[in-house]
Amino acid sequence: MKPFKFCPACATEIGEPKPEDGATCSSCGRTWYRNSAPTVGAVIVRDGKALVSRRGSDPHKGRFDTPGGFLEAGEDALAGLRREIREELGVEIDVDHDDFIAATVHEYGDEGDYVLAMSYAATLVSGEPEPDDDVAEIRWVDLEGLETLDFAWEHNREDTRRALRRET
Ligand SMILES: [Zn+2]
Repeated sequence: MKPFKFCPACATEIGEPKPEDGATCSSCGRTWYRNSAPTVGAVIVRDGKALVSRRGSDPHKGRFDTPGGFLEAGEDALAGLRREIREELGVEIDVDHDDFIAATVHEYGDEGDYVLAMSYAATLVSGEPEPDDDVAEIRWVDLEGLETLDFAWEHNREDTRRALRRET
């Protein structure tokens, strides 16, 4: 989101917004920061291939990423990741803190938002992934197939590569 012009709590004008820092309201004293929003993603690996998904909605509709999404308020990273995968693909995954791959900051959308994208390697516990409406398509790719995919965010390629190398 763009920096606030008015205090979200009391609607006082908070002056010229600073692009990278917080702004403090002169009326109620609250400070509004523009931190990166945390997201969690899973590279699900099976038989030497990783699951990638084609985005069904903007930003970057039609390009590939790895399944996952934004954490909810107060939500644990792994619990949020398991929830997102259940919602997007209808399956349960096995994932733990030891499966952490990388955390990458990137821009999200065209409003100057930043996300901190945390990626984990995961395996399927049971079931066959069935994409919901937000996912246009799923595909299983090996290290070679990975190279030609049009990823929405380049770090997804490297995360997927790392998860595949870790397994083999
Ligand atoms: Zn205020």
